[in-house]
Amino acid sequence: MNGFKFCVLGSGSSGNASVLRSGNNWVMIDCGFSIKQTKERLKRAGLVLADIQDILLTHVDRDHFNPVWCRTIQTHGMKAHMHRLHVPRAMSLGLHAENIVAFDGVFQLHGSTVEPIHVAHDELGTFSFVFDSGEERFGFATDLGHVPEHLLRSFSNLDIVAFESNYDPFMQETSGRPQFLKERIVGGGGHLSNAQSLCAIQTIASQSSLSHIILLHLSRQCNAPRHIYDLYEEHAAALKPFVTISHQDHPTPMLCAGESANMVQEVLF
Ligand SMILES: [Zn+2]
Repeated sequence: MNGFKFCVLGSGSSGNASVLRSGNNWVMIDCGFSIKQTKERLKRAGLVLADIQDILLTHVDRDHFNPVWCRTIQTHGMKAHMHRLHVPRAMSLGLHAENIVAFDGVFQLHGSTVEPIHVAHDELGTFSFVFDSGEERFGFATDLGHVPEHLLRSFSNLDIVAFESNYDPFMQETSGRPQFLKERIVGGGGHLSNAQSLCAIQTIASQSSLSHIILLHLSRQCNAPRHIYDLYEEHAAALKPFVTISHQDHPTPMLCAGESANMVQEVLF
């Protein structure tokens, strides 16, 4: 069986999409970019749209589910997997029932067992996932208001983790953003700060054997990779060589469990 391969096509408040190889199939996690942008980024990852038959949605906010996909999903006969809580909103955005596969608990997808984990984010919440192939485990979590205990219990024995690291608190505070928006982001139902993210990742790393830590959904206005590198340098230097920071505008390298982290570092540093 082929191991997991993972690439973030792009991540941030202007759009999110990643691809994960599970068995012999590619699954796209979220589809927040235009079709044209997605095709271009897939090409850079060595893939074409026809390689993707399944889209797994964390939630259906615009930056994770761009409604332009409704037509493409229908014409290509793709399947959009989402929690049943998100189905009415996805349909109101134009997605057809025949293209929706709703889950309400653990499900199987191309040889992996997928465990969805409900976490707080705006009204309906969002879903994090653990993919378990029987040989490798991959965890994906973005748009969390906070990190609940039940997520940390599930994010154990992972080989790869992709985790939100949204904002630097000082940049957030001094951003000039309206107060209501700041409160929404930092209030436990919005996004994770770099320190909250690192704290969770330290716990996950202590109960895993991680090859890669991929950081997601950096705020363009209120974050910068140098803040994250400084934070890791100061508090978690041993984890720093495993970190890949995703970007809004371009894909990460293709990452595999067990691959030498140093190879990726040459690209990154
Ligand atoms: Zn988002």
